[in-house]
This record gives sequence, structure tokens and C-alpha cells, in this order.
Amino acid sequence: MKIKHIDHIGIAVKSLEKASEFYTKFLGCETGGKETVPDQKATVSFFPFKDTTIELLEATDPDGPIAKFIDSKGEGIHHIAFRVENIEECIEELKAKGVRLIDQQPRIGARGIKIAFIHPKESHGVLMELCEH
Ligand code: ZN
Repeated sequence: MKIKHIDHIGIAVKSLEKASEFYTKFLGCETGGKETVPDQKATVSFFPFKDTTIELLEATDPDGPIAKFIDSKGEGIHHIAFRVENIEECIEELKAKGVRLIDQQPRIGARGIKIAFIHPKESHGVLMELCEH
């Protein structure tokens, strides 16, 4: 399995507007746009850096994964995404090694990229995403 680099860090926030303001006003970051991802029941704002991106996620549905995360843990880091060369191969490799996955095959995430989540019980409490651009 070949991980290239950390593609993005997903942060669950209560208000995209307020959180975005922190990044733009106080940290001087440039926004990389905003997108609603119905599949994840969230609206996402991007703050791109050299090799990685901060992805802020606000729930669009109180029963969605972001709302549930904030209900139980509060705002904070929701997932870390590794960019890989071939996501299908990585999924097969992890399955062969007995690693539990949330996604048995890739789905399309924000920015139209292929993503798949590893079960957080496998990755010591951190939700990990594989993604391929
Ligand atoms: Zn992500």
C-alpha cells in the first residue's frame, strides 16, 4: 500500500460560517470553496495548503454522521485522509489483511474524489479515510 501524503484533515464544526471566519480572519487562510455532499449529510468548506487541505464539515441533517459526532464528542478533528495511488488496490489489500472497513468499495466524496473509510476501531479511535484524486 502506497500512501503519498496526508490529503486533508476533516474537522467537524457547528457553524461553517463562524469556523471559516476563524481561518480567514485570524489565520489569514484563503478559502478553496464550499460544497454540499448529500452522501455525507454535510456541507464542506476547504482551506488548501501546499500538500494538504483543511476540510471543515457542518451537518446538514441532525441524523447524519457529522451531527452525531458533534453530539457525542463536540467540535474537533473528525477524520484524517491519506492520499493513495490506487484506492481499489488499497481496499483489497486491507481486506486481505483482515482490517475492517466502513466502505467495502470506493464512493465519491467532496470534490469528486474517490474515498473509503477504515473502521475507527481498527485505527485506534481515529477515523481514517483513503482517497484517490
Ligand atoms: Zn474527508
